[in-house]
Amino acid sequence: MSKNVIIDGLAVELTRKRIKRINMRIKSPDGRICISAPYSVPESEIISFVRAKRTWIDRSIAKVKERAEEHPEPASKAEKEQQRRELKRRIAARLPRIEQITGLRSNGWTVRDMHTRWGSCNTKTHHVNFSLMLAGRTDTELDYVILHELLHTVVPNHGPDFYAMMDSFMPGWKDIRKSMNR
Ligand SMILES: [Zn+2]
Repeated sequence: MSKNVIIDGLAVELTRKRIKRINMRIKSPDGRICISAPYSVPESEIISFVRAKRTWIDRSIAKVKERAEEHPEPASKAEKEQQRRELKRRIAARLPRIEQITGLRSNGWTVRDMHTRWGSCNTKTHHVNFSLMLAGRTDTELDYVILHELLHTVVPNHGPDFYAMMDSFMPGWKDIRKSMNR
């Protein structure tokens, strides 16, 4: 049996169990405080227990939250589907415009769950892949990747011709690349 109580401003999930001693855990990722206590222990004793361990509690919560921020939970399947839909909508709106401005043409495109590259282009078929990671990037950054991959339909490598065309179609692309590699 669990109930939520507030002790000295801390939200505590208190569970009564057939145990001998009071146990406490700080749960990831939100730093929730869970206390298990024997049925016989009065709440006043639990309050004393929390007060005695207050420094440890505050430090543990901070640590758990910090770790959760550094290693966020991977997006759920539903979240990824939502991201994919939204990204596809954005690409469908922006890619034809960039094709029109540059005269470059892709031969179809796909959004893929790739983690090491923003995009790729098959230089034979001219099919372009975009990484799902682009879901979190700005329109400017998305345009940069679209242009980069479209250029590969005419220049397969990253030689001087490639960069000359980048310069001519998207002055300032170097700043965008810098922001994306951070
Ligand atoms: Zn490239």
